[in-house]
Amino acid sequence: MSLYIVSTPIGNLADITVRAIETLKNVDLIATEDTRHSQILLNKYEINKKCISFHSHSGQAKVEKIINELINGKDVAVISDAGTPGISDPAYVLIKSALENNIEIIPIPGASAFLTALTASGLPINQFIYLGFLPLKKGRKTLLESLQNEKKTVVFYESPHRIIRTIAQLEEFFGFDRKIVIARELTKLHEEFIRGSISEVRKIIESRKPKGEFVVVLGGLGVI
Ligand code: SAM
Repeated sequence: MSLYIVSTPIGNLADITVRAIETLKNVDLIATEDTRHSQILLNKYEINKKCISFHSHSGQAKVEKIINELINGKDVAVISDAGTPGISDPAYVLIKSALENNIEIIPIPGASAFLTALTASGLPINQFIYLGFLPLKKGRKTLLESLQNEKKTVVFYESPHRIIRTIAQLEEFFGFDRKIVIARELTKLHEEFIRGSISEVRKIIESRKPKGEFVVVLGGLGVI
């Protein structure tokens, strides 16, 4: 039948649409990145559905199992641990395979951390570049160099272990006065936006032990 791509909250469990809840209640099967994690959300909305795990290490056999359910007339929803499936999360291989099997894809839109960070950043967002997670080694410097003259806002995800080093590296490549915003723990109790020049923001972030989840929003060349 249909494969539903369902966005779920990025922190605050109230950030889910009525349509997402209805969809999760109506499908036959939910493919979840982490079944135990998703159970918290499913319990809150009294969604008692059969779940099947589907994550970045799931092989072709798992994809085929889910596709077979769809071919056999089942409706399947795919959700990730947070936000929108496919955005730095698994979903692509499943969607590709579903399309190859003429299965209808129905998106149920909702939260995504990068869009949430952009909207409150105070930087221009009519056009932007989303990078997911930066490459850790190979290609990282080449990528940063290629963005040095970019006028559009750049947004990417970063882990708490790497955020300090990454901001220091951004200062090397983009200069001390380039505008930057770090969005931390979006929609959660300790939500925070650190805005300023790279050197100002670096000093703030270096003065503490970074905790939680981070989105980095880098202003384009010439943004004041
Ligand atoms: N699919 C998700 C989305 O639509 O945003 C992204 C999943 S990706 C595996 C996880 C990363 O997203 C985290 O490491 C963090 O950088 C970012 N992220 C997720 N939730 C966040 C939040 N509440 N606040 C800040 N960043 C968040």
